[in-house]
Amino acid sequence: AKQQGGNKMQFYSTEMNEQVLYQLELESYLRRALEKDEFHLCYQPLVDLATGEIYGSEALIRWQHPKLGLVSPGEFIPLAEETGLIHDIGKWVLKRACQENKKWQDMGYGHLTISVNVSANQFQQISFIDEVKEALNETGLAPQYLTLELTEGVMLRNISHSIIVMKELQKLGVKVSIDDFGTGYSSLSYLKDLPINTLKIDRTFINNLKVNTSDIAIVKAIITMGHGLSVKVVAEGVETNEQIALLKELECHYAQGYYINKPLKSDDFEKGLRQLKI
Ligand code: C2E
Ligand code: CA
Ligand code: CA
Ligand code: CA
Repeated sequence: AKQQGGNKMQFYSTEMNEQVLYQLELESYLRRALEKDEFHLCYQPLVDLATGEIYGSEALIRWQHPKLGLVSPGEFIPLAEETGLIHDIGKWVLKRACQENKKWQDMGYGHLTISVNVSANQFQQISFIDEVKEALNETGLAPQYLTLELTEGVMLRNISHSIIVMKELQKLGVKVSIDDFGTGYSSLSYLKDLPINTLKIDRTFINNLKVNTSDIAIVKAIITMGHGLSVKVVAEGVETNEQIALLKELECHYAQGYYINKPLKSDDFEKGLRQLKI
């Protein structure tokens, strides 16, 4: 048994080494991904539930590596945060997203908005506001068509600094959305003090949404609160027609999810613009 235990240890530490090696390899590849032009953005439509029309999209980063294949942002964004690479990647995302949205507006879809995810280290950076201004200036996108998605975790990392930055964004005319709403541990009291335009209900509440469940009570409460605070409410992760129907009934403003569309490559999003209607 002792011998076996020893072997087991050996086995685990080999596995751990592999894990460490993979992380190191990933990091060295990630350092060169921008210069090698390995990133692209996918766009997932956001639909107005009252009209069924697309009013915008969320930009979601993709990393296509020649050897590793498609690496998910869930895997490399945390690494980008740890290594500081998030600054350059975040700047690239912001600029590319504004650029592509402006292109669609110029094609005749002038109402389209773009939502961009912002990570904690990016948001806390002193230069963040300047980077947002720069992306808007360089692409010509009007500020009201840009929404920045922040999680509660991002905001609450340094609440006093976050308030200053959010007020600056509001002055600029850029919109702010609280992402993954309902999963944080924060008190609700900050909602009335912060300049927030949208609450995005986390998909874990939407995924199992059915009548007579506790999830519906939570979703209903968030939507009611949104109406009371005059902020728009988005439901993300909508996967069934039943969920759409319930959300409409609850007067949720916007929806996003696989039932409507998966995140699409830029070209496919563009092709779909005319047809996409629920
Ligand atoms: P998120 O901001 O909560 O984005 C929503 C995620 O849910 C996306 O995963 C999207 O593909 C997925 N999703 C959309 N509809 C459905 C659905 O109906 N069902 C299910 N099960 N999932 C759905 P993705 O693209 O893998 O992104 C994961 C996370 O990575 C994002 O979560 C966001 O936190 C982060 N991320 C993505 N792009 C960026 C970026 O450009 N910058 C930063 N900082 N983070 C990003
Ligand atoms: Ca998001
Ligand atoms: Ca989310
Ligand atoms: Ca998330």
